[in-house]
Amino acid sequence: MKLMNPEQPLLQVFETMESEVRSYCRSFPAVFVKAKGYRLWDTAQNEYIDFFAGAGALNYGHNHPAMKQKLIDYLQNDGVTHSLDMATEAKERFLRRFWSVILEPRKMEYKVMFPGPTGTNSVESALKLARKVTGRTTVIGFTNAFHGMTLGALAVTGNTFKRQGAGVPLHHAVSMPYDGYLGKDIDSLDYLESYLNDSGSGVSKPAAIITETIQGEGGINVAGVKWLQRLERICKDNGILLIVDDVQMGCGRTGTFFSFEQAGIRPDLVCMSKSIGGYGLPMALTLIRPELDIWQPGEHNGTFRGNNLAFVAAEEALRYWENDIFAKSIESKGMLVNRFLNELVRLHPELQGEVRGKGLMQGIAFAIPGMAERLCKAVFAKGLIMETSGTDSEVAKIMPPLTIDEDGLRAGLHIVKESMRELYENPERN
Ligand SMILES: *Cc1c(COP(=O)(O)O)cnc(C)c1O
Repeated sequence: MKLMNPEQPLLQVFETMESEVRSYCRSFPAVFVKAKGYRLWDTAQNEYIDFFAGAGALNYGHNHPAMKQKLIDYLQNDGVTHSLDMATEAKERFLRRFWSVILEPRKMEYKVMFPGPTGTNSVESALKLARKVTGRTTVIGFTNAFHGMTLGALAVTGNTFKRQGAGVPLHHAVSMPYDGYLGKDIDSLDYLESYLNDSGSGVSKPAAIITETIQGEGGINVAGVKWLQRLERICKDNGILLIVDDVQMGCGRTGTFFSFEQAGIRPDLVCMSKSIGGYGLPMALTLIRPELDIWQPGEHNGTFRGNNLAFVAAEEALRYWENDIFAKSIESKGMLVNRFLNELVRLHPELQGEVRGKGLMQGIAFAIPGMAERLCKAVFAKGLIMETSGTDSEVAKIMPPLTIDEDGLRAGLHIVKESMRELYENPERN
């Protein structure tokens, strides 16, 4: 593997022309040109293993061959590419398969809404609808939550840096402690419930409570099954709608198609994006309990709600869910990652790492400031793409494409191990 030459004015055009807002290209200073499965190549022919997977938009890997073929055929035949939300054959086929492969077997009778093709747009649509249905304005979110960058979604996002970008006060949202936030022995829902039940708490009854089942951006904080079940019960008892933001944890990231399947809960609204389009193409959807679907036609509109290329790839992607082979493979690869990370943390107690997560969303949280960032930088120099998460970037996150084979997984983990050893031998350098 050839290593990058740091003298090259590699990112010059981006530094000159592109806004200062750019972020990932700073973490991964290379110009990428080709990608396949779990691998990427840059213009200098360096090869990288991808343990970031488009922040969860590439659960099925880069340029999946079957999806690619479907897309090529569709383009060759002049299939409709853009159609607002008009009825197209591509959308019809996607909806039929989404019903037969995902919703029907799970006995989930939801209406499917297509908002604009981003996660934050799905969140906005869910928040709007919850407020419209209940006539209430407040929404409760959780500490360290991430729901997107538009104003409504930001209001229920925890991160101060991102919130400040709003430039206006973020109203009509209340933050409550997520599972584990108050310590291992405290059920944070005791706290939430006492606020809801006390007329002196200063917190009015919200339209909805929005949650992730695992906080990906927030530092891989996992909500327990019991916590999620109790949250559902609290919502039901109080006439509050439950929104699960499955934008990142959905589409198999934690082992099942929906991340809340293990908990057996039935959210009123579910937000999906990132990997729902299969190929990394922009697409989002919001699942709505049918009784709540009181939208007026066009009340939440958007130009790019009919990304037919995404529908074509998404339909093909759902083949992975026609039986349980894929889910089982995610589970076994997740166990491999878990064993590996635990072993690593045991090998290096001085790095004070803690293993978090499940399925193929796992990572190591470091008590030493800057350590996760140093690790991600070190692995990149060896050809592995990995990102941090958490408010203080304290977690090094391992989220490869779910389709990665064991060899690829082991090769990437080996780089993590090598880099950890180097950091251990030289904790202050890098
Ligand atoms: C990525 C993400 C979003 C926002 O999706 P965008 O497509 O970036 O707008 C919302 N919620 C969660 C949980 C996410 O991970």
